[in-house]
Amino acid sequence: MRVLVIGGGAIGAAVAMFLKRLGGASVDVQVAEPDPTLARSSSALSAGSVRQQFSNAVNVQMSSFGHQVISQADDWLAVDGQPVHVGWMDGAYLFCATEAGAPVLRRNQAVQAAAGAEVALLSPEAASRQMPWLRTDDLALAALGQGREGWLDGDAFARALGAKARSLGAVWRRARVVGFDRRGDHLAAARLDTGEAVSADAFVNAAGPWAGALGALAGLPVPVFARRRTVFALRCPTPLPPTPLVVDPAGVWFRSEGAGFIGGWSPGEGDDDPDDLPLDQPDLAQFEERLWPALAHRVPAFEALRVQRAWAGYYEVHPLDHNALIGPHPHCANFWLCNGFSGHGLQHAPAAGRGLAECLLTGRWQTLDLSAFSPQRVVSGRPFVEQAII
Ligand SMILES: Cc1cc2nc3c(=O)[nH]c(=O)nc-3n(C[C@H](O)[C@H](O)[C@H](O)COP(=O)(O)OP(=O)(O)OC[C@H]3O[C@@H](n4cnc5c(N)ncnc54)[C@H](O)[C@@H]3O)c2cc1C
Repeated sequence: MRVLVIGGGAIGAAVAMFLKRLGGASVDVQVAEPDPTLARSSSALSAGSVRQQFSNAVNVQMSSFGHQVISQADDWLAVDGQPVHVGWMDGAYLFCATEAGAPVLRRNQAVQAAAGAEVALLSPEAASRQMPWLRTDDLALAALGQGREGWLDGDAFARALGAKARSLGAVWRRARVVGFDRRGDHLAAARLDTGEAVSADAFVNAAGPWAGALGALAGLPVPVFARRRTVFALRCPTPLPPTPLVVDPAGVWFRSEGAGFIGGWSPGEGDDDPDDLPLDQPDLAQFEERLWPALAHRVPAFEALRVQRAWAGYYEVHPLDHNALIGPHPHCANFWLCNGFSGHGLQHAPAAGRGLAECLLTGRWQTLDLSAFSPQRVVSGRPFVEQAII
């Protein structure tokens, strides 16, 4: 079987790696990626964090496998026995809720516990005792991860997945797909910007935030949109201990990063969130307008915060339900989607890559049932909603 994976970020690299792990010499894997530096790729611009705290069990299970691959990178990704550095740091997420959000936290924690994730529900008093730097008087509940959470270097991780895939025989082509040849209801070949055409039995859309644009080249709708998110690197002159990744009810988040912090704001329901804003223009005004007031409220020491730098990357948003699309396109059986992770795709890359490879090679989900992510649900209008979105 010949498979062309389009996009060489974490998702494309994970798909390629698992295709070769599972299929060996029986599968010919090529990966088209125009930019070997991954400079604009979400994988390299990500906040690189891993959590168990989702509202759906299958997302918890995907993160667990992601955590396993990341935290045991030497076992999974070493090439020729060389140590693999993905910058893994054990950490935790702290979801904070007011009265309005508390029932959701309780419900999510029950789902997480049933899926094997340990998450502690803390009263405001208990949270304040554990984290005296945190303001809790306006909170009703907090959820603190007790294991398998933390952060890593997304760029290093995507590269390590790619290096492993190549060591197993996957071939990277420095090229952009600019069109497709269709034969009936199938794709026959992809056209590259080098002028070549690559024929294959299956094509995998791993183009991240550009998944919709890639689908359009094949005349196949992929409802995934590139939504810019700005991340601020911050310094706090007032000494603070390392913090978990705190998700605040005001729609902001922050966490320790080295000696400082990183943080950002995510638009909520009703906020303007246009597509395709330029990546080289992080929204610096967000710091004063959104981030600083909320952070200084939650952590009084953050009154003294200073911005060191800021960058922007694209979330690959699937607005129907903020869950991924994994499986064949509803209108084209050999165009496979692995898209729309809506801001949590780095940690899900191993599970998504393994699942897609299993299903493509054997016709069935094997280790994890990922059928809930079927792109068919877009056509049938049956969303599979993930509520714990940051
Ligand atoms: C600011 C920010 C913070 C995030 N934080 C987290 C987090 O904490 N935890 C988490 O799990 N996830 C997080 N994410 C999301 C995560 O980074 C993405 O879900 C994940 O990296 C998606 O990987 P990908 O390989 O699909 O996309 P990408 O890494 O963007 O790779 C897609 C690749 O496709 C290539 N491509 C595009 N079009 C074509 C074409 N026509 N032909 C060939 N190649 C093409 C591009 O060059 C690109 O390299 C964050 C994202 C951002 C932007």
